[in-house]
Amino acid sequence: MNWMEGFLRERRKAGLLRELVPATFAREGKIRFGEKTYWNFSGNDYLGLAGHPELVAAAKKALEELGTSASASRLLGGDREIFHRLEEEIARLEEKEAALLFNSGYQANVGIISALVGPGDAVFSDRLNHASIVDGTLLSRARFFRFRHNDSGHLDSLLGQHREKFKRALIVTETVFSMEGDRAPLRELVELKERHRCLLMLDEAHAVGVFGRNGAGAAEEAGVGKRTDLIMGTFGKALGSSGAFLAGSRALIDYLINTCRSFIYSTGPAPATTAASLAALAMLGREPERRRILRERADGFRQALKAQGLEARGDSQIVPLIIGDNQRALEISGELRRRGFWVGAVRPPTVPVNEARIRFSLCYHHEEDCLDELRRNVCGLLGV
Ligand SMILES: *Cc1c(COP(=O)(O)O)cnc(C)c1O
Repeated sequence: MNWMEGFLRERRKAGLLRELVPATFAREGKIRFGEKTYWNFSGNDYLGLAGHPELVAAAKKALEELGTSASASRLLGGDREIFHRLEEEIARLEEKEAALLFNSGYQANVGIISALVGPGDAVFSDRLNHASIVDGTLLSRARFFRFRHNDSGHLDSLLGQHREKFKRALIVTETVFSMEGDRAPLRELVELKERHRCLLMLDEAHAVGVFGRNGAGAAEEAGVGKRTDLIMGTFGKALGSSGAFLAGSRALIDYLINTCRSFIYSTGPAPATTAASLAALAMLGREPERRRILRERADGFRQALKAQGLEARGDSQIVPLIIGDNQRALEISGELRRRGFWVGAVRPPTVPVNEARIRFSLCYHHEEDCLDELRRNVCGLLGV
């Protein structure tokens, strides 16, 4: 076991050791460690729904009626009517024929991609796509092409060069990128997928609940949902619950029920979690102002930082502030924490060298006063 201890020593020495830090409380845009409470700018509870009384009540009711576990995989006695109700609601929201639940977004991406493509096929993937998309592609053993981030021209040229050598081809991208806070050029991607006869898969993990007239995601906002083959999203971020979904054609969903190993060989979702997700979807319909206000405030915060000459990026509720130097990014995030703002410094290799950043992830409960105070602190620390 010495090699493990050596590894950990090296990581610690380089200041790169990852460690768990349990919070005692986290709700409505705040997080508490021990006795100290912070504004939480590191969470993905964008609409402030995790812990909302309606989600909690729905989960409690399901717990009492259906127990704590599905107790088996869905194909072997672990299926429940409530799972189908959530799948129907998701299919309706995404305007697709059908949907399928997964226990996590990670499981969804790994299982979906490796079931759809294999040796002799190709995956064309944005260079900044999530690890679960990368892992699903590697597991599939399809040829792996990575196009430059949000660069549809580069994708077009890769497709022109390579598409014809492969049987099936899948284009896959996140719609809102977690470290950049920017959005994929969806209209261009749809055009390319049609011209080059590919399947298009969108990972809406950071966009479901936040984008689109009905909160369906960035595909809805861009008006390309119908021309997209696979829309994947998660319940653990804006929807305040846990798990993930895929929406698509009936044939696609039935195919995955028969072939997708991360679906077949995993216990069904917890009924209480499913009930919380259903309650969250109902909130999306009833309280559209949550997403509207969140996005207005995020845009205002980003513009205010830019007005001070700072490099604030993105076009969503995620606002990365580029600092550049690793050590400086760490110092600034540390000082912001001391001042009551829980933020993370994101450093290479997660982001490119010389692009270390502070990533602000906004929540509906971060009101103007809070954002103003944060901005003043950031500007003070950066001397602008
Ligand atoms: C968070 C995330 C996932 C994983 O979802 P989990 O439900 O947390 O496993 C997948 N893709 C993207 C783009 C994500 O941001």
